[in-house]
Amino acid sequence: MTAIITNLHLKGFSTGKIYTGKMKKICVPGLNCYSCPGALGSCPIGSLQAVIGGIKYQFSFYMIGLLMLIGSLVGRFVCGWLCPFGLIQELIHKIPLPKLKVNKTFNKLKYLKYLILVIFVFLLPMFWVNIVGMGKPTFCEFICPAGTLEGGIPLVLLNKPLRAVIGFLYTWKIALLVITVILSIFIFRPFCRFICPLGAIYSLFNPISLYRLKIDSDKCTSCGICSRKCKMQVDVYKNPNSLECIRCGECISSCPQNAIEIVKPKLPLVKNSKNNLREVK
Ligand code: SF4
Ligand code: SF4
Ligand code: SF4
Repeated sequence: MTAIITNLHLKGFSTGKIYTGKMKKICVPGLNCYSCPGALGSCPIGSLQAVIGGIKYQFSFYMIGLLMLIGSLVGRFVCGWLCPFGLIQELIHKIPLPKLKVNKTFNKLKYLKYLILVIFVFLLPMFWVNIVGMGKPTFCEFICPAGTLEGGIPLVLLNKPLRAVIGFLYTWKIALLVITVILSIFIFRPFCRFICPLGAIYSLFNPISLYRLKIDSDKCTSCGICSRKCKMQVDVYKNPNSLECIRCGECISSCPQNAIEIVKPKLPLVKNSKNNLREVK
């Protein structure tokens, strides 16, 4: 639903022109490419690189503040419920072919997304600048398969002049997209798990966000059903607020003991008519 709402500039799909109106100043919470012909808002990772790589380097208080606000409220809930590219990978994963679990060694690749965040979103746009001091949005330009799928391919198909200037970089981006699509058939959300810098940012808030999971140790029998159900391969009953949890909620409904709870934010206490403290309602 969010994917549809944030891509309602339908005219763009017939004209091949992207929307550049006032709403483009607002960022959507998930990875939704600025160059998608239907996009009404901006991608947070694209905007972050644009500000960092600007002629006069500025610390992006708006972008960092927005990401911190979303992260501290809901953590990776955005990944589980609001991001179009997460949804696309899940749909591809439904293709009925054998599925693979990632083993412990291969799973160490989950740290790659933090490296990509630091190098491609912060350092390269900041220091790899042209003659007038402008940096490149290096993650968008060299890696992002969401951008290739949502922006690059439609724009090239809809604009003849663009087709004439296709070069190595476009071929490279298509190759990355094809690899992502093939991996998504066999592995659940490979881009989210190993590559995505936006997921990396939100993940850091999982342990402290207002919306988080809690195991009731009186009810939990350590049967491990929840961990086996989790497609992100989180050891749910040992670490319910793992950085990899995308808050999809599947473990909650799978627990036979109802031992997994969503922690609700504590509301301020006020005194009632009998002078006892109660939460504000
Ligand atoms: S990890 Fe990135 S691509 Fe995956 S759902 Fe989260 S924001 Fe979207
Ligand atoms: S499924 Fe429920 S009871 Fe079993 S380990 Fe997970 S939280 Fe505990
Ligand atoms: S199944 Fe549970 S632990 Fe796994 S990603 Fe979903 S909410 Fe998180």
